[in-house]
Amino acid sequence: MNVILLGYPGSGKGTQAKVLAQKFGLFHVSTGDIFREELAKKTPLGQEVAGYLSAGRLVPDKLVLEVLKTRLATETRGLLFDGFPRTVEQAEGLDSWLDSRSMAVDAVIFINVPEAEVAKRLGDRRTCLGCGKIYNMGTRPPAKADACDVCAKKLITREDDKPEVIIRRLQVYRDQTEPLLAYYRASGNFNEVDGGRNPESVAADIAGMLKGK
Ligand code: ADP
Ligand code: ZN
Repeated sequence: MNVILLGYPGSGKGTQAKVLAQKFGLFHVSTGDIFREELAKKTPLGQEVAGYLSAGRLVPDKLVLEVLKTRLATETRGLLFDGFPRTVEQAEGLDSWLDSRSMAVDAVIFINVPEAEVAKRLGDRRTCLGCGKIYNMGTRPPAKADACDVCAKKLITREDDKPEVIIRRLQVYRDQTEPLLAYYRASGNFNEVDGGRNPESVAADIAGMLKGK
């Protein structure tokens, strides 16, 4: 089973993906996490994508597709995409890659959250430097203000969760990613979930949609 999570930055894709990958035995593919890892390790790829990430702009399609094809070449589990595809070109690239391996996209889940809500969430988001756990200082604060409940490492504000960059990312989503909704709505395995509720309810709904796929 190959699944795509769609939605605004801050709609909860990463949070949901972690739960669902575990539950369904899928391989969680987060292009954002891949690029941040490369950046942290200062690899040539990391250096190439640094400027795009800090500006909240998209990494060029060709590069994104290349990186994924390399990383996924030997993966045999079902794939759970989080943050990819982000443009129609990427979606087409994914379709032809899956097709060449006699696979397809089995479900697309659009996590619907109003833009005003995601803007607020991104501003309130903190990420654990150690284990990657995501907190919301408004609705899901950690027990201690700047330490992770799980691993006690420091919580940080992601570089691209700063106000100017948030505005840019939302704009990029509207311009380049929202057209994907029409692309996938036409495909017959499109599902929509109300992402404005607590993460457990959202996860339960999505799990229901994926059962039997
Ligand atoms: P969010 O969904 O919260 O914006 P991500 O972690 O998915 O965050 O992505 C962070 C950044 O990584 C994006 O703003 C972009 O620069 C880059 N990126 C991630 N995935 C893609 C992609 N599929 N195509 C192009 N750029 C991407
Ligand atoms: Zn942690």
